[in-house]
Amino acid sequence: MRSMTVLVTGGAGYIGSHTVLALAEAGEDVVVIDDLSTGFSAYLPEGVPLFIGDAGDENLLEGVIAQHNIESIIHFAGSVVVPDSMRDPLGYYRNNFMTARNLLNVAVKRGIGRFIFSSTAAVYGDPDQVPVPEHAPTRPLSPYGSSKLMTEIMLHDVAAAYGMQYVTLRYFNVAGADPQARIGLATVGATHLLKIAVEAATGQRAKIDVFGTDYPTPDGSCIRDFIHVTDLSQAHRSALAYLRNGGASTTLNCGYGRGYSVLETIDAVRRVSGRSFAVQYAPRRPGDIMTMVADTSRIRGLLDWKPQYDDLETIAAHALAWEDKLYRERHGELRHAVSA
Ligand code: UDP
Repeated sequence: MRSMTVLVTGGAGYIGSHTVLALAEAGEDVVVIDDLSTGFSAYLPEGVPLFIGDAGDENLLEGVIAQHNIESIIHFAGSVVVPDSMRDPLGYYRNNFMTARNLLNVAVKRGIGRFIFSSTAAVYGDPDQVPVPEHAPTRPLSPYGSSKLMTEIMLHDVAAAYGMQYVTLRYFNVAGADPQARIGLATVGATHLLKIAVEAATGQRAKIDVFGTDYPTPDGSCIRDFIHVTDLSQAHRSALAYLRNGGASTTLNCGYGRGYSVLETIDAVRRVSGRSFAVQYAPRRPGDIMTMVADTSRIRGLLDWKPQYDDLETIAAHALAWEDKLYRERHGELRHAVSA
């Protein structure tokens, strides 16, 4: 009999590759579909098959399912840049909503009954209360958030109609890298705070801007709930175990339930790097939410999930170690290319 396999879409991307690593290390059979638009095939552990293509390509999906005994799907593939979604809403509705629709269509046809979906705290928009519980109103402020919320609703309806079980995971601010620096966030031109801070700490940027220091928060800057990508990858494993144990479909916030300000976060990078870099106070960034912190009671209650890296300095240190490695590799590659 063929073994039971987990299909991971977007498995070569940032969060996807950490989850594939966690699954592979736990002895799971995994196959990945990724179009490599932002992912890297080199970030997949040895022996994990990669199908290069669109996660919404039904012919490709049928081919993968014909070759592998797919038991569950973890769906990461999608576009994730909020300002890009403002400029290109139709692209976001295609990549995030239509892709999921096709994937679910094939899952239903082939009787694949477990689905884990990557959603986002952006579905909440500007929350009335923090920490934000899952039952808070959903009022996304961008096509990115709307495309994720639409997919959540579709998944809920599909599950009700066809008896699928799902877990929707709403990610807060994902950061850090594999503690052994095997993989991490490698996107060029990333806009995320910790990535920018470690780029500054490695001398790849002259300075970091703090967008807004006049918010009514203790130090005037925005507050975020950062979750280590490895802990988040383990939350996916726990969600899979929960579904395999017959857990009911649910939606879970993924954060630690604790907020750090932008200035505290930059300070943590300064401390762990021992390098100083220029920090410039800048105007507020349009569309930013002041405070975003997860109410984590539901995930802690439902899943067998024990975060291991719930510490800002640890997250900063792992992000920095990865950035150092990436910088050396890119620098080396450049020298190699020039001398060749
Ligand atoms: N931020 C900043 N400087 C930067 C990048 C981000 O001050 O170079 C702030 C941003 O304004 C927000 C917080 O850091 O208040 C987190 O932003 P990020 O883009 O990392 O994630 P978001 O919460 O927007 O998804």
